[in-house]
Amino acid sequence: MNENFRFTPIQKLLQNEALKPYPHLLKVHFARAIVAQCRKNKEFLDENALILRIQDALLKFDRRDFQSLINATGVILHTNLGRSLIDKQSFEACKNLLCSYSNLEFDLKSGKRGSRYGVVLEKLKILFDCEDALIVNNNAAAVFLVLNSLARDAELITSKGELVEIGGGFRMSEVIRAAGSRLIEVGTSNKTHLEDYAKALSESTALILKTHKSNFTLAGFHGEVGIEDLGALARKRGLWCYYDLGSGWCGKLESSLAKNEPEIKKVLKHCDVLSFSGDKLFGSVQAGIILGKSALIDKMRQNQLLRMLRVDKITLAFLNESLRAYLEKSYAKIPTLKLLNDDLAAVKKKALWAQARLKITSALKTSRSLVGAGSMPGKSLPTAVLALEGEALCLQERMREKNIIARVEDGRAVLDFRSVLEEELESLVGGINAL
Ligand SMILES: *Cc1c(COP(=O)(O)O)cnc(C)c1O
Repeated sequence: MNENFRFTPIQKLLQNEALKPYPHLLKVHFARAIVAQCRKNKEFLDENALILRIQDALLKFDRRDFQSLINATGVILHTNLGRSLIDKQSFEACKNLLCSYSNLEFDLKSGKRGSRYGVVLEKLKILFDCEDALIVNNNAAAVFLVLNSLARDAELITSKGELVEIGGGFRMSEVIRAAGSRLIEVGTSNKTHLEDYAKALSESTALILKTHKSNFTLAGFHGEVGIEDLGALARKRGLWCYYDLGSGWCGKLESSLAKNEPEIKKVLKHCDVLSFSGDKLFGSVQAGIILGKSALIDKMRQNQLLRMLRVDKITLAFLNESLRAYLEKSYAKIPTLKLLNDDLAAVKKKALWAQARLKITSALKTSRSLVGAGSMPGKSLPTAVLALEGEALCLQERMREKNIIARVEDGRAVLDFRSVLEEELESLVGGINAL
């Protein structure tokens, strides 16, 4: 009998009062999709039932949209949650610049075209005491540009132990090939000696590459050649040495974290060029920052690829603010550094403030937070957490509905306050109390 069922016409559904608040294009899209789906599944719904489905689809669409979240996982550089935070004050400083025309590529003195990267590069050169610099979309782009500019159709020597995958399928060995270099692997997975590099050098070698082990650790019998020795070898043999730092840091870093973690300015002394991510430990926006000798940076500037990897004014504006903060040593304006450097007492204070106001029973505990984003593997920071009473996974899911991301530890849902900002505490408590 239902073969002849007639669904409410789309036009009629669109006029329903209940859908009034929603934008026309979205209503049309979901009304059509739902009627088509019902027709296919032979689900013969009347008008009211269809409207409920469409409303539900529209609500879910909004829910899928970008939301600001409270990160109570303790992982400071959480790639899934957007990595480094932008400081509010720095954001305000950028706002006017970005909402008006600017001298992005205009020389105010001559009235002619100016250098797009000029102001940011000048700050990079002062901060890191380097000859020249360049900015691209992210560090993956930086790696590709460096290799393609300095070692295309030539040999590149690197340690087997450093042919890493950094996530998202970005594999050093593939990138080297894609950039047009011939990869010469030396050493073994766990140990590489300076002689291994020295023996592999030939007439066709252009570059020695060192990659920082930023997202894994080796335990047991292992060893790598430091950048000091690799740089010296490259200089002696008239070659270039490039260090892909991934997550280099500068400014101020708590000493247990700083151990074995390259400080940008220090390691730059030993190599010809290095690159790092703007939004890992450096704590700024997504960008790939390349520092090094003028002659090498010039080669990259002449590479056609640079135009394709060019960053937007939004990136430059935020990066400029971060660099200004570093030059002023206003480290509080680099939220990632602030969260990393906060001492346990400061974290505990946030936890206690929340515990006193939460309706749900919780236990204050000390634990460890991870740094995240493929940075500082095997290292953690002391932290204060609130372990919540109740079924862990269920609580975790319900908190997600309130845009609060918690983690599970020892079978309990816990709020880790290392990655929670002070100004978020009130919303955190409000959200959980409303569950
Ligand atoms: C993270 C990382 C990259 C890629 O940097 P993105 O800015 O995420 O593109 C490259 N190399 C190393 C060693 C890294 O740690």
